[in-house]
Amino acid sequence: MSAVIKEPAPADQRTLVSLRHLNKHYGNFAAVDDISLDIQDGEFLTFLGSSGSGKSTTLSMLAGFEQPSSGEILVNGQSLVNVPPHKRDIGMVFQRYSLFPHLSVRDNIAFPLAIRKLASAEREKRVDAMLKLVQLDQFAHRRPAQLSGGQQQRVAIARALVYEPRILLMDEPLGALDKKLREDLQDELRQLHRRLGITIVYVTHDQEEAMRLSQRIAIFSHGKIVGLGSGYDLYQNPPNAFVASFLGNSNFLKLKAQSNAVATFEGKPLAIRPTANLQTEQDLLLMIRPEKALALSPAQAQLEPLPSGWNEVTATVTEMLFLGESQTCSVVTATGTAMTVKALSASGMPLQAGDAVCVRWASADACVYTQWTESDLNKAAGAH
Ligand code: ADP
Repeated sequence: MSAVIKEPAPADQRTLVSLRHLNKHYGNFAAVDDISLDIQDGEFLTFLGSSGSGKSTTLSMLAGFEQPSSGEILVNGQSLVNVPPHKRDIGMVFQRYSLFPHLSVRDNIAFPLAIRKLASAEREKRVDAMLKLVQLDQFAHRRPAQLSGGQQQRVAIARALVYEPRILLMDEPLGALDKKLREDLQDELRQLHRRLGITIVYVTHDQEEAMRLSQRIAIFSHGKIVGLGSGYDLYQNPPNAFVASFLGNSNFLKLKAQSNAVATFEGKPLAIRPTANLQTEQDLLLMIRPEKALALSPAQAQLEPLPSGWNEVTATVTEMLFLGESQTCSVVTATGTAMTVKALSASGMPLQAGDAVCVRWASADACVYTQWTESDLNKAAGAH
């Protein structure tokens, strides 16, 4: 894996939670496979990955519902492994979080404050604020059975947040809600996180949700963290081909290295980002985001000389897609590599299927990988 995982840590941030060589085995199967991760105090970190990748198991070990097979969980340097869940100062919202059926919405939310013996005026104030936050003021006197599944989840979120725990764990808490309400609650959660300064560890399989909410994202695959960083960095500079393929859309080209800054594709030399320790004729994988590659007609390409540091390959248009402000162009190169690129808004004739085109990109915009597997390149195959 050639690219570096950037992990900016401002000077005022410090590690609150450390997972050290954490494992969870079921028989011979490693659901969580040697995970090490530092979670910063006050950060919003999301575990993103497809179903079965080990996100919930990791979160359950942090919550104390699952015992690690081996490894350590430290909070402020103290081991949590033998601390029972209710003594961890951790709030939890899970996908199937059960409310107290005999209590009203208001009393469900107030429950954590009641057991912490908060003065009743303060309790009422906080519960009112939470009811408002999750837009359930009108339902305060209902019982959980009188609410929809989505409304019950909102009560669970309010109940977990009301005592302002140091760490809040959330496992797909918005999965049952419709899109509009989910987005509203995502915005609320982000604001709430900023206001309270608590540390949130959030699990989702939805990359848009992860991008919208998180300061950092940990990408899970097969029980391991295979990418860690801000959504921006993971998208712009994925540390490996799996992350590139999992997050957004990618074009992959197979090249042969010639030097540390030149490789051949279909027999022609291309400029690549300088990459250390390449061997001549070594297989390389180039990754270019669709919006970073442009298709031009040959006539237009003649009018616009190739800027320095840019590459050009020839290809044939297979399909044009009009998406309002942009046009997406599917092309195939001479040896059959399919690419999706941006059609440059041409002053001349629009491109059509069957047209010859020149595809251009800046070498600085393309990531170079030296190790990958075929399943990394296939979003569907890489998902499990
Ligand atoms: P995710 O949250 O990413 O969907 P999980 O952490 O729930 O994934 O599960 C990771 C893997 O561990 C899955 O393959 C799942 O089937 C397996 N697993 C989880 N819990 C158990 C269990 N109690 N017994 C056996 N296998 C389990």
